[in-house]
Amino acid sequence: MAVSRLPLIAGNWKMNLDHLQAVAFVQKLHWTLKDAKHEEDSVEVAVFPPFTDIRTVQTLLDADKIAFALGGQDLSTKDSGAYTGEISGAFLKQLDCRYVIIGHSERREYHAETDEVVAAKVEAALRHGLAPVICVGETAEDLEKHGAAAVPVAQLEVALDGVASDADVVVAYEPVWAIGSGQAATPQQAQDVCAKLREVVAAKLGAEAAERTRILYGGSVKSGNIAGFMREPDVDGALVGGASLVTDEFAAIIRYQK
Ligand code: PGA
Repeated sequence: MAVSRLPLIAGNWKMNLDHLQAVAFVQKLHWTLKDAKHEEDSVEVAVFPPFTDIRTVQTLLDADKIAFALGGQDLSTKDSGAYTGEISGAFLKQLDCRYVIIGHSERREYHAETDEVVAAKVEAALRHGLAPVICVGETAEDLEKHGAAAVPVAQLEVALDGVASDADVVVAYEPVWAIGSGQAATPQQAQDVCAKLREVVAAKLGAEAAERTRILYGGSVKSGNIAGFMREPDVDGALVGGASLVTDEFAAIIRYQK
């Protein structure tokens, strides 16, 4: 029996848009969606601005009653203290963040984040009442050597170690070769891996968690390919990078038609 999981369209801004540009962007996106009578309860929209924008975006969402969820792009494994440059989950929670991206391939590659660091961050997020968006995915080399699913499955197994069965987590399957390349996976490729990732959620957190946990696809998602991904039974949304920075394009992705 098909369950209904609320689709999540998440915009990962990465290191783009300063706090002034963020205000203009969110206002414009809101108005674009409003004009098109976007139904807020049929899809959840989340934005992940740089840390320095979060307070400004939070104030705007609150003042204008805009129903976008907010998230951080990373967090510290620690709660507070002498950790120069780090941002704690407690700080994100205080700014009404609902989500935090963890283990994005850019963090794994440029900041040497291991699966164990990712697992510690997942634990930290949950400790502070944030839903981790756990990113997993294979490089082009992994794909050639091991096929598509082996690496993301192994990454997710470690990330979910010790996570409670009732935890609110989101998984994002992002093949590294598809990120920012313009070469997205096919809907069938995304479905095959997302189905395997759902099996991992079932094995680690139980059948109920597997039914309700949202699994996103990410990597060169655009308005022209989103519908294909959303037609797949195990793809519950998208983590969007480049296309989330262009108002009309991101609005069109949010308004995808199955
Ligand atoms: P992209 O990035 O949409 O620009 O490929 C996706 C991501 O890195 O989350």
